[in-house]
Amino acid sequence: MRIGVVAVQGAFAEHIAVLERMGISAFEIRQEKDLSGSIDGLILPGGESTVMKKLLRELCLYNPIKELINNGVPVFGTCAGMILLSEIIESGEESCFGTMNVTVKRNAYGRQLGSFRCIEKFDGNDIEMPFIRAPYITEVREDAEVLAVHEGRIVAVRQGNQLATAFHPELTDDNTVFNYFINMIKNRVK
Ligand code: GLN
Repeated sequence: MRIGVVAVQGAFAEHIAVLERMGISAFEIRQEKDLSGSIDGLILPGGESTVMKKLLRELCLYNPIKELINNGVPVFGTCAGMILLSEIIESGEESCFGTMNVTVKRNAYGRQLGSFRCIEKFDGNDIEMPFIRAPYITEVREDAEVLAVHEGRIVAVRQGNQLATAFHPELTDDNTVFNYFINMIKNRVK
């Protein structure tokens, strides 16, 4: 299994470290030619979504990545990565891939509460969730399903081949969310 981690900006190294810890082969996606080999899964890390959006276009990664997502390659977006997948951004700014039928609110916890950790259930398991200037989901539509909620706000969603979390599981020792993603890859019907 080969998982590509988009490495144009943000917390990509942390995702690669988790995958290596799990014995899964991971590689960085920095330019179009990095997408030429086989790819079983894709990770969009946290960072700054506006910067990533711009760089993905400039580096000609936007179209090939959108095509992979539309072709059913499992994709996992954390934090800024969740924003990139969301169809609607509440502030009215233009969406990026927009492949998940959800509305997202950026920097949704305000400046004071920008960063915090909590324990909540993800798909039925208690896990630690680190939030960093995080978004949350304000609406899910069509077949997008809610996987985790914190204080009444949606912080993890799944829609077919797409998984997104407002928090950063790559900053904890718990592999629950990554195992969930790996199972999406294993169970993919090609
Ligand atoms: N606030 C960032 C954004 O809007 C996301 C923060 C993160 O990825 N940790 O893009």
